[in-house]
Amino acid sequence: MDVRIKFLGGAKTVTGSKYLLEIDDFRLMIDCGLFQGLKQLRLMNWEPFPVDPSGIDAVVITHAHIDHTGYLPKLVKEGFVGPVYCTEATASLMEIMLLDAAKLQEEEAEWAKKKGYSKHSSPQPLYGVEEAKQALQQLRPFHYESVVAISNDISVQFHNAGHILGSAIAEIILHGNKQTKNIVFSGDLGRKDHPILFPPAVLKSADIVLVESTYGDRENRPEKTEELLADAINEALQNDGCVLIPSFAIGRTQLLMYYLQSLIENKKIPSVPVYVDSPMAINATEVYKTHQNYHKIEKEYPNDYTFCNFPELQFYRDQEASNSLNHIKKNAIIISASGMCTGGRILHHLYYRLTKENDTLLFVGYQAEGTRGRRILEGEESVKIFGLQVPVKCNVKEITGLSAHADRNELLDWLKALEEAPKKAFVVHGEAEAAKQFSRTIKRELGWSNVIVPSYMESFELFENI
Ligand SMILES: [Zn+2]
Repeated sequence: MDVRIKFLGGAKTVTGSKYLLEIDDFRLMIDCGLFQGLKQLRLMNWEPFPVDPSGIDAVVITHAHIDHTGYLPKLVKEGFVGPVYCTEATASLMEIMLLDAAKLQEEEAEWAKKKGYSKHSSPQPLYGVEEAKQALQQLRPFHYESVVAISNDISVQFHNAGHILGSAIAEIILHGNKQTKNIVFSGDLGRKDHPILFPPAVLKSADIVLVESTYGDRENRPEKTEELLADAINEALQNDGCVLIPSFAIGRTQLLMYYLQSLIENKKIPSVPVYVDSPMAINATEVYKTHQNYHKIEKEYPNDYTFCNFPELQFYRDQEASNSLNHIKKNAIIISASGMCTGGRILHHLYYRLTKENDTLLFVGYQAEGTRGRRILEGEESVKIFGLQVPVKCNVKEITGLSAHADRNELLDWLKALEEAPKKAFVVHGEAEAAKQFSRTIKRELGWSNVIVPSYMESFELFENI
């Protein structure tokens, strides 16, 4: 058996994760993510795929985030018909995410057509709802730790990655004629002390390892997140206004719900209504309820209130209910998406509340360059919403520490658990500088010699004649 790997994304960038294994004549792709962020990256989603999608035999997905799954419907559109292996919770979250992504693509194409701002006379979406539905049909969900046969001599085993619900480390096991070898894809690794998710599984052996490096150059010291959140909310409520929190619908919103429930129960903040105004976040919360064995909450507190069930919590699903929130003047916490204020319902909340001096806009997540969230955070006096310049008069605050990614030391600890140095270690899923720094850290701290930061389209031989 001969094995090669080709990097089709997630190399020197945090998006577009796609790693192609060529195992003799079997083609297995690990993750199928969309490139996001800067325009030059986003345009890559539109380029012809470097490998014929109909020639790919199977896909393995580590977790539901769009930068790991969002290209799958496009792959299907271009002819991929094989099975897609993932965990059960990932499959449920993908249903929410891919359908939403497809709808957005269709709406954008429609909008471009109406406004005539596209170069094309009839702008097309990257993919539509039909292709997303077809991709979902191809999912083959399994639970953590089951060993699943992909072919006669290839299997996959998922281990908990602790990053978002259902997130997995994917271990590909190759049964060669002479030897059995494994290739470990870390996926995105979570933190050890996440209040809802179990810590990442520790693996003892890997012949080849691919490790993410989002925070490979940083130590995110465990901050007192709960206290910082309490201070920010108390200050905002004392100002006789509302607190508006833009938040990613999956993972971050549930973590916020967890902290708010705990703060209210422990009387660290007043008992005020907490509105979750995002159909996607509400649907994602349902997935936490239907996949109880993927997190630790209900097991610990079977009879008490939990993050998805406490008296102050209100789910606002329809648009009319969402609009009604504009009438609330004070004593309320509103959580809405998108997390970086680029679209979605958060926009109408911003439109109404940015101008209100008593309200507080509280950022709890990363605001990428070029986003509306980043501009507000950097103190711009006004931002454009619905085509109008809206002055920023409310209080703007930020708390950090809610990250779902392991930091440098946590990544290093995870690698340290391997009893022998892998034959090759690839540092992926990080900006070029973070990946480079982390590769140096691995060499220095662990004494591994074969640590590689691959580039887009680079390919490497992993095993020969095993
Ligand atoms: Zn992720």
